[in-house]
Amino acid sequence: MIRFGIDLGGTKIEIVALDDAGRELLRHRVATPRDNYRATLETVATLVTDAERNLGARGSVGIGTPGSLSRATALLRGSNSVCLNGQPIKSDLESLLQREVRLSNDANCFALSEAIDGAGHGAGVVFGAILGTGVGAGIVVHGRVLTGANAIAGEWGHNPLPWPTDDERPGPPCFCGRSGCIELFLSGPSMERDHAKATGRSTRAEEIVARASAGDNDCEATLARYESRLARALAHVINIVDPDVIVLGGGMSNIERLYTRVPAQWGDWVFSDRVDTRLVSHRHGDSSGVRGAAWLWPVGDEA
Ligand SMILES: [Zn+2]
Repeated sequence: MIRFGIDLGGTKIEIVALDDAGRELLRHRVATPRDNYRATLETVATLVTDAERNLGARGSVGIGTPGSLSRATALLRGSNSVCLNGQPIKSDLESLLQREVRLSNDANCFALSEAIDGAGHGAGVVFGAILGTGVGAGIVVHGRVLTGANAIAGEWGHNPLPWPTDDERPGPPCFCGRSGCIELFLSGPSMERDHAKATGRSTRAEEIVARASAGDNDCEATLARYESRLARALAHVINIVDPDVIVLGGGMSNIERLYTRVPAQWGDWVFSDRVDTRLVSHRHGDSSGVRGAAWLWPVGDEA
């Protein structure tokens, strides 16, 4: 059985073909047509038909993309590729490809990839959080994405930072219309803004981390604030979802000390005498989006 995963992003569309063991049979990437819904559909369909010709076999198709399909209307919403919003992308692809297509949010695909054969392999409940230019997350329960009644399960970046200190209130204004969202504390640009606010210096996140380990007190303080905020934001998740494993992805997940310092703190806010949840780094990195899309059709659930 071959499963195709497609990562449909604003700048590129990538396809991967996986076998039942998760081995990559093929991978290909093209630029996303600009502001053109019809051309985007045709690009996706061509990627699949070309791949099927190369492999000499038909496969299932899963798509990972920003945004979500409204359960009420089956139209995509919340995508940063705005030409896709309001479009029946799933049913249009199904008629082009002549088969059922599964589509999920890109953060859900990240969580699914890491849960199936990544850093969360073998865990019952996995919370996958992407800490990059933005903050998003997905929840996987026993190998299945938890979609939810409103198709927003795991959307956590625009909840407020929990247990804020006085100087964290009300927090920076967010594009979503509110202030103090988790994304405004935990994304890479947010750490840089926080550091600039505290020191008056503009420093890239990687540089802040490097200088902290070299003993720079200001950078150390910025990183310590970041760790406290991540610990609180994840403690809130643990209190509700109680995952076995939390997998971090995105650029900020490369900060190695998070994996010891954050679990050392989150017990202060988790309503339990001990916390056995593991905090781990991703295994598949940038490939998790496309691999997770392929795993929207798990072994034993083929079309
Ligand atoms: Zn927000």
